[in-house]
Amino acid sequence: MSDTVPHAAPTEISIHREGAQRMGFFTDTTVCIGCKACEVACKQWNQLPSDGFNWSGNSYDNTTELSATTWRHVKFIEQFSAESPGEPALNRWLMMSDHCKHCLAAPCHQACPTGAIIQNEFENVYIQADICNGCSCCIAACPFGVITRSDMGGHSHKCTLCYDRQRDGLEPACAKACPTQSIHFGPVEELREQARKRVEQLHQRGVPQAYLYGDVPSETYSEMHSFYLLVDRPSVYGLPDAPFNPWLHMMGDYVRSVAGGLVAVAVLLVVVFLLKP
Ligand code: SF4
Ligand code: SF4
Ligand code: SF4
Repeated sequence: MSDTVPHAAPTEISIHREGAQRMGFFTDTTVCIGCKACEVACKQWNQLPSDGFNWSGNSYDNTTELSATTWRHVKFIEQFSAESPGEPALNRWLMMSDHCKHCLAAPCHQACPTGAIIQNEFENVYIQADICNGCSCCIAACPFGVITRSDMGGHSHKCTLCYDRQRDGLEPACAKACPTQSIHFGPVEELREQARKRVEQLHQRGVPQAYLYGDVPSETYSEMHSFYLLVDRPSVYGLPDAPFNPWLHMMGDYVRSVAGGLVAVAVLLVVVFLLKP
């Protein structure tokens, strides 16, 4: 993994407050019991409407995805298989409480044309819904499918990392409600240290597959201020194996557009020069 963050944000709007720390989440999926207390606490604190009680047919998942009214979603992954040559039998149930990753160089932030998406003083990615014009550029830009536009107001919404609670010195509602401490909230540097120790502990306890997802930047994506401890490939949890910042593709498009424009101007000047009497 590279240590670089090759993503320059075209819109660098951020708030600074003296003494504010970079805050985030470390979610240890190995201790999640799928109780959904985090989902409910998020709905309750943020006064988000219920999605109804639907039978999705996918294990105990009745929410199915993140949306403008569901900012936390607990995923259920059932892994049961018989032993086969070279493959041990699998007999486990993975659970993961998903939400916005609060990326350091967030593609949603970079794509927003109105400045509605900012990085606040805790370096969390925050949508100011009253400035959002509903263009949906952020939705297309997020590689994790986190943001959705509300049918009611037409604005984009997602987890705020409980900005209102943090400003009052409170921990986010989901972390507060989690009975197993699967969701750890705190200064990002401290969380990283804690997470690495937990990975080591799991390795010593016979879980060599344990690793961290999103704690450090990769070649194609920045670090995330909400990162996870997983025990299987990211795609098993519905996460991209190698997240890619779409801005990296777009930079090439911008360069090509500017180069095309310059060539057109040069051709025009040559034509004008040749036609001059
Ligand atoms: S996970 Fe998606 S919505 Fe959240 S900060 Fe990153 S790009 Fe934005
Ligand atoms: S931090 Fe707050 S807004 Fe984000 S998922 Fe948790 S409860 Fe919901
Ligand atoms: S509250 Fe904690 S244990 Fe329960 S589903 Fe959420 S993360 Fe898992």
